Amino acid sequence: MLIVMKNNASAEQIRTVVGVIKEMGYDAMPIPGGQRTAIGLLGNDGGVASDRLEGLEGVLELIPVSHPYKQVSREWQDENTVVSLPNGTKIGGSDLVLMAGPCSVENEVQILGVAHRLKDLGVTVLRGGAFKPRSSPYSFQGLGLQGLELLARAREETGLAVVTEALDPDGVDLVVQYADIIQIGARNMQNYTLLRRAGRAGKPVLLKRGMSATIDELLLAAEYLLAEGNPDVILCERGIRSFDTHTRNLLDLTSIPVVKSLSHLPIIVDPSHGTGIRSKVTPMGRAAVAAGADGLIVEVHPDPPKAMSDGAQSLYPDQFAKLVDEVTVIARAIGRDVTDSLGENPTD
Ligand code: PEP
Ligand code: MN
Repeated sequence: MLIVMKNNASAEQIRTVVGVIKEMGYDAMPIPGGQRTAIGLLGNDGGVASDRLEGLEGVLELIPVSHPYKQVSREWQDENTVVSLPNGTKIGGSDLVLMAGPCSVENEVQILGVAHRLKDLGVTVLRGGAFKPRSSPYSFQGLGLQGLELLARAREETGLAVVTEALDPDGVDLVVQYADIIQIGARNMQNYTLLRRAGRAGKPVLLKRGMSATIDELLLAAEYLLAEGNPDVILCERGIRSFDTHTRNLLDLTSIPVVKSLSHLPIIVDPSHGTGIRSKVTPMGRAAVAAGADGLIVEVHPDPPKAMSDGAQSLYPDQFAKLVDEVTVIARAIGRDVTDSLGENPTD
């Protein structure tokens, strides 16, 4: 529940409301806004005696937050969250962000080469897995620490920010030393110990939708991160399981407008895992931007047939260049832009 204070409510009146909420056995979180303060009541078990709060001096109205999540909701915060990275990239603002790179970091030549190429195309965040959550224990599991070091080299050379996955709580402590964004993968979306650690890591988190997760479950997973004090959360639609076998997953583009109405958090789209097929990545990337995504994360490999993971869905750099041109046009048609925060616009 949110207790919205009148715009002339005094600090004393706000303190009184907070005191009463605590007396009632709940937690209170004041949220100062431009016009007025709202106070979040946390731990609502459905038994809040709202008349006791309604009657207090300075209270304008009580808004029941009917969703199971709170801090990620639009009721809690109306303005969009904009996540800022050290290299100037902003995620969730009016401009789209482009994240791209190979599924896995494989060696120095591969990652540095592709990073330079992607930077020239307007990408501002380099992706690349060092710890890979593979469906088979016999598949390539990633270079581990060496992969993180190579990503850090690529950042040094190019100025690109780095997003990479942490597979477990101890992995968060390691990844946070190298990455600008900690990725939590689809298979770990409901790993609550991992979410809690990432919520305390002090760096933005890219939270991918679980392959069988509802939108409410995605938002509840994000709530864990915010509840630990991390407001910098980026959601990612990456496709869900369906009965159709023509694609690896069903990319649920409806989740973009649904999430936008329920939550203030940015949402980006991964058309690579969302389709699993190279030829389907570009059309779905275009569609995601048209549907209002705040950005794309795309697997791009210098030589996809030789990729150690997800080659079949990885774009060739030239294909990605075309995708960038096309989504730039689409973005402009809906009043947005694709900005290279490291410098100029990619198509200007
Ligand atoms: C990835 O980004 O390489 C990845 C494994 O993604 P997901 O968790 O969405 O499957
Ligand atoms: Mn992959």
